[in-house]
Order: sequence, then C-alpha cells, then structure tokens
Amino acid sequence: MNVSEPAVMTFDRLRTYADCTDADGCWEWKRGKSSGYGRVRVGGKRGQVYRAHRLAYELVNGPIPDGAVVMHACDNPPCINPAHLIVGTQGENIADRDLKGHGWWTRKKGTP
Ligand SMILES: [Zn+2]
Repeated sequence: MNVSEPAVMTFDRLRTYADCTDADGCWEWKRGKSSGYGRVRVGGKRGQVYRAHRLAYELVNGPIPDGAVVMHACDNPPCINPAHLIVGTQGENIADRDLKGHGWWTRKKGTP
C-alpha cells in the first residue's frame, strides 16, 4: 500500500474532509464514520476503506508498525489532527486510559 501516492490520497486532501479551523484543536471528521471513527475510501469505488485517523497518521509519519494501534491523546475518536495521534500497542492503549486525568490533553481541555 502506498497511501502517500499523490494521485491516491494526500494529507492536504484528507484535511478537507475534517473541520480544521483550529490548528491546535481537534480536527473532527465531517464525512462518514463508523464506531465514532472517521472512515474514508481510498482508490475509488473499489478502493479500500481506512480509518481516517490512521490514514492521517500514516500520511504524516509513515507506515504504522504491524499490530500497532493509533490512539487519540485527545480522546476524541473523530479527530484526525496528527498532533493528537500517538502510536502504541493495544496494551498501552489500556494503560493510557488508566492514566487519563494526569496528561497534557486533560489540561488542554480545561478540566482540572
Ligand atoms: Zn484531537
């Protein structure tokens, strides 16, 4: 798969599918969603469907390692802002949830 092929999908194009008015805030996906996550088809009618935040991560940072998950530091599934996306394992995802309330993302949202 080469999603960074300009003819297939670019990050600039992906961004137009989300609300990116606040550069530092959450970029909420405006198109189709499944389970709260943005979803996008790449490559036309017979193309493959990707989760929008995973695609955003790959377009900016390169391929996601096998078995890794892309997590939202902001805890906002439709968000595709690469600055809010972190890659980790499923185990880390659970540990991350346990730590909620102590991280920068909580302060950023203005909650104590
Ligand atoms: Zn976000």
